[in-house]
Amino acid sequence: MKILYAASEATPFAKSGGLADVAGSLPKALVKDGVDARVIMPLYGDLKMRDKLEYVTNYSVPVGWRSQYCGLFKAEVNGVTYYFLDNEYYFKRRGLYGFYDDGERFAFFSRAVLETLFYIDFTPDIINCNDWQTALVPVYLNLYYRHLDKFNRIKTIFTIHNIAYQGKYGTDILEDTCGIGRRDQHIVEYDGCANFMKGAFETADKITTVSPTYAQEILDPWFSYGLDALLREKQYKLCGILNGIDYDVWNPHRDPLLPAHYDISRREGKKTCRRALMEGFGWDDDGRPLIIFVGRLTEQKGVDIMLEALERFMPDKIYALIIGSGNEFYNRKLADFEASHSASVRTVTAFSEERAHLAYAAGDILLMPSLFEPCGLSQLIAFAYGTIPVARATGGLADTVIDADSSPDGTGFLFADYSISELEAALNRALMAKEEPERWNRIVRNAMKEDFSWNSSAKEYAALYRDVITAD
Ligand code: ADP
Repeated sequence: MKILYAASEATPFAKSGGLADVAGSLPKALVKDGVDARVIMPLYGDLKMRDKLEYVTNYSVPVGWRSQYCGLFKAEVNGVTYYFLDNEYYFKRRGLYGFYDDGERFAFFSRAVLETLFYIDFTPDIINCNDWQTALVPVYLNLYYRHLDKFNRIKTIFTIHNIAYQGKYGTDILEDTCGIGRRDQHIVEYDGCANFMKGAFETADKITTVSPTYAQEILDPWFSYGLDALLREKQYKLCGILNGIDYDVWNPHRDPLLPAHYDISRREGKKTCRRALMEGFGWDDDGRPLIIFVGRLTEQKGVDIMLEALERFMPDKIYALIIGSGNEFYNRKLADFEASHSASVRTVTAFSEERAHLAYAAGDILLMPSLFEPCGLSQLIAFAYGTIPVARATGGLADTVIDADSSPDGTGFLFADYSISELEAALNRALMAKEEPERWNRIVRNAMKEDFSWNSSAKEYAALYRDVITAD
């Protein structure tokens, strides 16, 4: 079975969030199970591990009425072949997204994914596309490549990692920039806009999302960002498969970014990590619980209620460390919060693998008060590091966190309503549990025992791929 996994980010090369973790670890797990899974992604200006890249060839890619250069590079990591598509005009910039021409950049990328198949010795059975950045792949495949021998049997799967980002633009982008003529524009038009994700819903053979609960939630207008009616129509081809994490990367027993190691039965190393973190942030540790947050600074992640709730534990009940990158609005909010509570709060408004790994290891409690959460990986990582999530029961958080006040197998603390007081109450419950060492120890052990490796989810993907290949 041959799978081409098209994504706008993938570890270990480029990452802004969970999509990169998934694109770096699912194909690796599939390869281990005997699937020939390869990844294709943009060659960004700040791509990591550039020395691994090998030049293959170059060709032209149609973008609307123009032709653009595309260089092809490749690398092999963890047994997985990665292809990189190079165009310096589009991708040699600082950061991955957030540019005025993102629509054009990823229309180019999506078209280039298909053009690349003329130049590599690999014809996939399935192209698994991910999020709006690759949503035009199945659209272009049907419009411009389907009649060619090489392409006529290729199936497509579109995976929604976050329905809030759809690739939505004015319809004027369609003809000149995307190269989709008037006759075909209905495929990508929705509510008077060009909507890349809608195009994938129309044209992909299957739609998946990253947890069973989110697969249900997005049928509801509250979660769907306007696409629920369409998704209900396409429900026959929609399913949810829970993400996993890569325990080669997220493992306190051998994480190279930690000053000390530990596992479920010997946890002294967690204390050493805490000491290192406390020293690093200039804290004179008096033993208060350390509450951490690691995530994108957006409304989705519940940053607003988090700061308000944490306020109620100031000045001296907890330490709080917030690591996140986002827009200027939240950067300023965090800076103000830290300035008002300089003895108890530290913030890192940047993307920092080193600090994130150390925080997961040193922390007692991870906050994930998300407004919505398609799957969430931070809570799965926190489990592995013996850090207990306090999370809102939505999406993948509801599927993975077991409330410790409701079950002896509890791995965290859940709250239902998106409100400051519910978050405060859940954090209070966690802090009370922490005061009972035996009970806390059991919760930590439960969390560290959890297995959210790709073992079972990769098999679910493989089974889905097989179904799609054999269906007609
Ligand atoms: P999302 O995909 O919505 O961003 P997830 O919880 O699925 O959220 O995945 C987030 C991933 O990105 C995790 O691996 C988390 O550790 C990482 N991450 C998020 N923000 C940062 C940051 N500022 N520095 C380092 N890692 C981060």
